[in-house]
Amino acid sequence: MFVKNLQLQHYRNYKELRLESFGHVNLMIGRNAQGKTNLLEAMFVLALTKSHRTSKDKELISFQEQTAYLGAEVDKKYGTIQLELRLSSQGKKAKINGLEQRKLSDFIGALNVVMFAPEDLEIVKGTPGIRRRFLDMEIGQVTPSYLYHLQQYQKVLIQRNNMLKQSYGKVSELGLMLDIWNEQLAEHGVKIIKKRKQFIRKLQKWASDIHHGITNGLERLELSYLPSFGDAEEEDEAVLLQQFMIKLSQMKDQEIRRGMTLSGPHRDDITFYINGKEAQTYGSQGQQRTTALSLKLAEIELIHEEIGEYPVLLLDDVLSELDPYRQTQLIETFQSKVQTFITATGVETLQTNKLKDASIFHVQEGQ
Ligand code: ATP
Ligand code: MG
Repeated sequence: MFVKNLQLQHYRNYKELRLESFGHVNLMIGRNAQGKTNLLEAMFVLALTKSHRTSKDKELISFQEQTAYLGAEVDKKYGTIQLELRLSSQGKKAKINGLEQRKLSDFIGALNVVMFAPEDLEIVKGTPGIRRRFLDMEIGQVTPSYLYHLQQYQKVLIQRNNMLKQSYGKVSELGLMLDIWNEQLAEHGVKIIKKRKQFIRKLQKWASDIHHGITNGLERLELSYLPSFGDAEEEDEAVLLQQFMIKLSQMKDQEIRRGMTLSGPHRDDITFYINGKEAQTYGSQGQQRTTALSLKLAEIELIHEEIGEYPVLLLDDVLSELDPYRQTQLIETFQSKVQTFITATGVETLQTNKLKDASIFHVQEGQ
């Protein structure tokens, strides 16, 4: 897909902006704090209705303003669509071709993006919560039903946790109620786990190929899902359901004692291995960065496989951190098929002749 233009009103430091005629490769050049990341973030928000760097929508609205507007026209395989999103303290309103979408999940995924930003290093280095968020964002983008189950799961989880907390230690009263909650928790939980395992299996295939290429064949990258019950390979829903129910009943006493739900997809994790060693623990900074990059690039292929179109690639401050050889590799791999937006503080930080045909946008104080 191809983003043709972008309109912003009261978005971050953009008062009023209309950008036309994007090219295949677009460079957003400007000094620090001028609004380069804000531009990429705006495209990310149009794709997912959420920012990649904050969960608080309020931060996206310009200071002193009440609502923010984002709009873009996107060329897709079957025609051009117009996307519009309005953010306010009352919530979000989304339109496709002028038609308001009843559910945000109907809007998410009309535009697909893959963002690679410095903080993505945390997918490898950071806490399990960051990795789960990565999974949820990426799967949700191509599978709206995943988001539904995730929402339902979180709702049940909160209620179940509240109940466990309130009836601290009163085992007998809790028994029957827990059974009811368990069924609902497992019903949605299993759907989430199954999708995540499928996603990781496919991601692994692409990521290890790409990683192999970037490291010149020196490193072998592997990924595995680390579930809170059962084994990583099991994808059969009926089996997963049974395993989850057994696990819940095994954990019952401990959960009542601790007042929270101790197993399920909200406790799962992913492990990355480079040449058989855990990247989180043993990887160098460079290896971790390359791992994160391989994951993001793998996603491009995965989305293509899933929806039959390439997503838009957003590279925030990352190209200039690669050596000239890797910059060239990266651009060369995707230039012809993937529309790319790249931020940098100056063109001189980009040392590859592959960018000579790029469209250049100078970003200064929100203009
Ligand atoms: P760098 O090169 O340092 O990454 P950048 O060009 O990517 O810089 P952005 O993060 O896009 O910078 O923009 C930062 C600017 O946006 C800051 O000056 C910040 O104060 C401003 N800003 C952020 N949120 C808002 C908001 N809600 N309203 C107005 N301005 C905002
Ligand atoms: Mg920035």
